[in-house]
Amino acid sequence: MMTIRRSCRSLASLMRPTLIALTAGALVVAQGAVALAQSQSLPIVRDAEIEALVTDYATPIINAAGLGKRAIKVVLVNNSSFNAFVDGRRIFINTGALLQAETPNEIIGVIAHETGHLAGGHQFKLREQLANAKTMAVVAGLLGVGAIVGGAAAGASGLSKAGAGIAMGAPEVAMRSLLNYQRTEEMAADRSAITYLAATQQSAKGMLTTFERFSNALSLTGTRMDPYRISHPLPRERIANLETLARASPYFDKKDSPALQQRHDLMRGKIAAYTGGGASVLQTFRKDPQNIGARYGDAIATYLNGSAQSALTKLDPLIKEQPKNPYFYEMRGEMLLKQNKVQDAANAFEKASSLDPRKSGLIRMNYGRALMLTGTPANLKIAVDELKTSIGRDRESPAGYAYLAQAYGQMGDMALSDLASANEKFYSGKIQDAQIFATRAQRGLKSGSPEWIQAQDIISAKRK
Ligand SMILES: [Zn+2]
Repeated sequence: MMTIRRSCRSLASLMRPTLIALTAGALVVAQGAVALAQSQSLPIVRDAEIEALVTDYATPIINAAGLGKRAIKVVLVNNSSFNAFVDGRRIFINTGALLQAETPNEIIGVIAHETGHLAGGHQFKLREQLANAKTMAVVAGLLGVGAIVGGAAAGASGLSKAGAGIAMGAPEVAMRSLLNYQRTEEMAADRSAITYLAATQQSAKGMLTTFERFSNALSLTGTRMDPYRISHPLPRERIANLETLARASPYFDKKDSPALQQRHDLMRGKIAAYTGGGASVLQTFRKDPQNIGARYGDAIATYLNGSAQSALTKLDPLIKEQPKNPYFYEMRGEMLLKQNKVQDAANAFEKASSLDPRKSGLIRMNYGRALMLTGTPANLKIAVDELKTSIGRDRESPAGYAYLAQAYGQMGDMALSDLASANEKFYSGKIQDAQIFATRAQRGLKSGSPEWIQAQDIISAKRK
């Protein structure tokens, strides 16, 4: 499933993600990714399975770039177009990019290129340039120029005229320097990416495939504009250089391991089901309808369609094939919750959690949520512990606080329930609401206690 955008709409709709790509680091100071996302309407999607896989793609590359100590996080953006960008602490990647990439190597290549930008400090320089230029018009101009460079690569003529049309109002000199600098840095990021891929004994073929696809796909009608193509100009010269470098590697023909490919397929099945339902799953696996990713996607799409029982009969054979896959049990828990089988769901989440080598906070949160829904005093106590553990691992998840507030509410502890709600609102970027809950929580908390101080921190936080 490709997103088709009319060119007249594309500029406005592309503006926001690109802006965030350029300024995210500057915007985020005390708040987490989710808060940023919500304040900027960048839809973040959380999923233990996908986050684990993309982290496995990124970690060797980041280490090869010497950035291992920065503990860079992967953030999934729920958007069907192809995009990926870095902000110094995080790699943002669109679900659309993950769905479109047929192999892990294609995504690993894009991550390698983005890591090249990160290691080179490129985005920071671009931000500074933009700060100097100050106006939104420059950003509009940058988008215009980027789009036209892409057009030139595909053989469009009238470069300057069309560019001037889109870039109207932008200071021309600032734009030209941005463009020149961008060309240089794209090539530098490509070269760095090749180095990281070689150091990790991986092929650069996927990166080449992805960039060639962008370079060729931009037709003269220009109906489809992925943000990634606009922020990463692809003149022919760049593709040619990249191809020479990629082919020189002894790993050029090396394929991803079957196990990694399978995890990739499972991820694509899941994303297809969540973003486009059964039709998208069929479309994604049209060449290989019996692929495990297709079957997984079918089970999830069936569940999302409201047929939890039928979904379970599709999921259970997969669990038989992979009895140690934590995410299958996590999905099973979701399906059981849908059927109001809360204790069975809790058992499935507990199993998922015990199998999860990463100890994902999200799975622990689901376990806590299911326990909380059983409502028994003994389970509520465990639920609170699980939810607290989950939050300790994953501070940027407002949902964890929401369930914690519910659990404390059921236990009759209103002050701690209000404090959890205050945190939930705070991490959702709703500072004013957070302060109302924090103020209310303080009335029931012992002055000076750690919880009281936590509430005070929220009350003292600056409003936007
Ligand atoms: Zn780039």
